[in-house]
Amino acid sequence: MSIKALARAKINLTLEVIGKRPDGYHEVEMVMQSIELHDYLEFSPTPGGITLTFEGEGLPAGEQNLVYRAAELLRSYGGIRQGASIHLKKYIPVAAGLAGGSADAAATLTALNKMWGAGLSLADLMKLGEQLGSDIPFCLLGGTALANGRGEKVKRLPACPSMGVVLVTPPFGLSTAHVYQSFEQVASINKPDHRGMICAIENNEGHTICSHLVNMLEPVASKLQPAIAAIKGKLLQAGAMGVLMSGSGPTVYGLTPDRDTAHAVADRYDRRDEQVLVTNILNPDL
Ligand code: ATP
Repeated sequence: MSIKALARAKINLTLEVIGKRPDGYHEVEMVMQSIELHDYLEFSPTPGGITLTFEGEGLPAGEQNLVYRAAELLRSYGGIRQGASIHLKKYIPVAAGLAGGSADAAATLTALNKMWGAGLSLADLMKLGEQLGSDIPFCLLGGTALANGRGEKVKRLPACPSMGVVLVTPPFGLSTAHVYQSFEQVASINKPDHRGMICAIENNEGHTICSHLVNMLEPVASKLQPAIAAIKGKLLQAGAMGVLMSGSGPTVYGLTPDRDTAHAVADRYDRRDEQVLVTNILNPDL
């Protein structure tokens, strides 16, 4: 029996860089949020081995792909003899700060755990997933969450109110490693108020959520790629309530009260060579 799965992208509502750790990673704290934009995956059982086919640009093939690596990891951890043939349709912009690869890996772990009858709990899958990428535990959980450590320790938060989201992805990628390496902790950088953000979420206050959007990686990413600051200005001009760069960029998003307004903002947006997508905040049914 084959299984179909949707792999949801995420945005960061806050991102604080706390400091560099001895293992080379940065200690972070961030409020993360799933959005409706997704990749589509289909899994079918085979007698042995993993095969991956995909539709989409800029993706590594075979063993470099996070889908393949997640499948192999679960297979060896669970001592599974069966294999899987996997097909991925990519819609989430790649290397864009939207955790597309992590979302695909999380969807793969969840689907194959079911298809192979491996019997791992969500907590087991999260532990396994963090070996492949810091955002994978969040992608397994979904919804609204507070993450810390290198991003792999996640705690569910009350659901963020449903709002429209306009995603603007410029034509250049930004390497997560390069952005973090270029980050300098200086007193002038605005720090996010996570508690204030969580309060605004609990109280369903869209405007207060927008006034608490802060990403400490944004100044360094904008220095590397000044187009990021220009996109923020254009999104505000087009009528977004609040704007922020997601993760380590370069995607910038604008929040609106609902999806219809997001379409209107996207129509007004002065687009040059950027990709503009309309989506919305998404919370899973618990
Ligand atoms: P994050 O926000 O988690 O740092 P990102 O959104 O910036 O991630 P991804 O789209 O997850 O970036 O891609 C990061 C890198 O992972 C890409 O450079 C790509 O080569 C590699 N990768 C491997 N598998 C996948 C996949 N299935 N989808 C997207 N990227 C993949």
